[in-house]
Amino acid sequence: MTEKDRERYSRHILFAGLGEQGQERLLAAHAAIVGCGALGSFHAAALARAGVGKITIIDRDYVEPSNLQRQWLFEEADAAQALPKAVAAERRLASINSSIAVRGIVADLTPENIEELAGEAQVILDGTDNFETRYLINDFALSRAIPWIYGAAVGSYGLTMPVLPGRTACLRCLYPEPPAGAQPTCETAGVLNSITAVIAALQTADALKILAGQAGTVQARLTTVDVWEGGIRHIEQPARDPDCPACGARDFVYLDGQRRAPVSLCGRNAVQIHERARPLDLAALGAALRPLGEVRANEFALRFFTGPHELTIFPDGRAIIKGTTDIGLARSLYARYVGS
Ligand SMILES: [Zn+2]
Repeated sequence: MTEKDRERYSRHILFAGLGEQGQERLLAAHAAIVGCGALGSFHAAALARAGVGKITIIDRDYVEPSNLQRQWLFEEADAAQALPKAVAAERRLASINSSIAVRGIVADLTPENIEELAGEAQVILDGTDNFETRYLINDFALSRAIPWIYGAAVGSYGLTMPVLPGRTACLRCLYPEPPAGAQPTCETAGVLNSITAVIAALQTADALKILAGQAGTVQARLTTVDVWEGGIRHIEQPARDPDCPACGARDFVYLDGQRRAPVSLCGRNAVQIHERARPLDLAALGAALRPLGEVRANEFALRFFTGPHELTIFPDGRAIIKGTTDIGLARSLYARYVGS
């Protein structure tokens, strides 16, 4: 470590849990952040300030004015230019810490690219907004024995849980299947900016322990927080389920692509998401979406208009997203307005 580093990271070095050795490890470490919204942009800034030597950020979205209320890295100019979040994050982090390597990747994380994007990471931080991507991370992390930190927040509530392959339960021990029906999302139910900071900070603390070589001190528990109506609760993580399809049977159906909702281009400027076995209550979804844009619905389909896009959503969970040929953007709109 150089003298400059010793000065820059002195408060970490003074902290007994890290010390100079822990900081040395951080400087040589590599973390991957999947999703650079409220959680991910907090992870990115915190890890960059901590001096984590290599940070890979994977995000498929663009900065919008409604992101600025909680997405800590972005500024008005990023939204005005509709910059990809991964690009805006990479630029901002370069001004926070110019001595680390940040790679911003504008992409949808898929079974095809996850090895290339996250295969060298020592920890993967969940900043996503959907279960499909979380299950993919879970499968990949188990298959490669890479720890990952689950996190989610909506409204004033959030939760986080570390997954340490071989030691703790995994996401599918906790939730064997994705939640059914439409789920509340930050777009439909709103989100307080402070809950995103709390959850992201807890995730970051676990990530720093792992990267500093102290994975043994990460506690196998689920932490839930409500910053408005309740407090913080720690729940012992359930034991690993020996019948878990992922960490028990090692049948990685999300990693081999079997469970991915097929998507195809349809028509000149539209993408179809062929969700399977996801019955939706269109009346309830319509009520949730009506404050956000025009909704036209009948018993066969619901049409929702947002910006240049039109989502036609069917009772079986299938959707056609008009106004784009970008499959990643279509998946993102689906996750935002219908739920993971
Ligand atoms: Zn499991």
